[in-house]
Amino acid sequence: MAHYERVLLKISGEALMGQLGYGIDPTVATNIAKEIKKALSHNIQIALVIGGGNIFRGVAASAKGMDRSTADYMGMLATMINALAMQDALEKLHVPTRVLSAIEMNSIAEPYIRRRAVRHLEKGRVVIFGAGTGNPYFSTDTAAALRANEIGAQIIMKATSVDGIYDSDPKKNPDAVRFDTISHIDLLKKELKVMDSTAASLCMDNQIPIVVFSLKVEGNIYRVLCGEKIGTIVEG
Ligand code: UDP
Repeated sequence: MAHYERVLLKISGEALMGQLGYGIDPTVATNIAKEIKKALSHNIQIALVIGGGNIFRGVAASAKGMDRSTADYMGMLATMINALAMQDALEKLHVPTRVLSAIEMNSIAEPYIRRRAVRHLEKGRVVIFGAGTGNPYFSTDTAAALRANEIGAQIIMKATSVDGIYDSDPKKNPDAVRFDTISHIDLLKKELKVMDSTAASLCMDNQIPIVVFSLKVEGNIYRVLCGEKIGTIVEG
């Protein structure tokens, strides 16, 4: 039944905060964990990248005067908080989970080692990549693109608050039209704000497809993991 063998699921930090406006809503984390658990029963290997926007965003802090690199390191630490929260939600459901951090913090997570990540996945463990790429000036979308390539994921699944990619912002323009599919190059050319250009180019250069779908519909994570066609596919 499963369409994919190995996938990378990207969840924004904002998704984790639910209706709270800041931080982590444990109910949201639990719901995501339930869907991941269900998909695992179809022998899909699942890696996760979780953003940090619900806690701290480097660009926003640097706009208010903070040094950009320092602010970005704080953002990366925020992703670790989310990674641990998600690990906890998964472990509560008895899903074996490992957090691998791009910045060494050995007391709380394993360091990121590509072969180790792959081995965990082969053993059926969910792998959460924390601390983004480990470098300032990047985003967790770029971390998702990078790690997906490194582990040989077949697709990046980007869970967002919108149900796909539109030609303009559907929250502002009621006539915005949704794409079923779009090429990487068009995504870049049209400057559609789905992901930053570094992440989109990395996916384009390595021909990795991206599916963009809404996290707000219950069951969507499970559906997309099982290969159901929802949202917008970026490929070609
Ligand atoms: N970040 C970074 N390098 C990375 C990944 C993330 O510096 O490789 C920092 C950056 O400051 C970013 C913050 O971590 O604003 C949180 O990540 P992101 O904004 O991508 O989270 P999301 O929007 O997905 O919640």
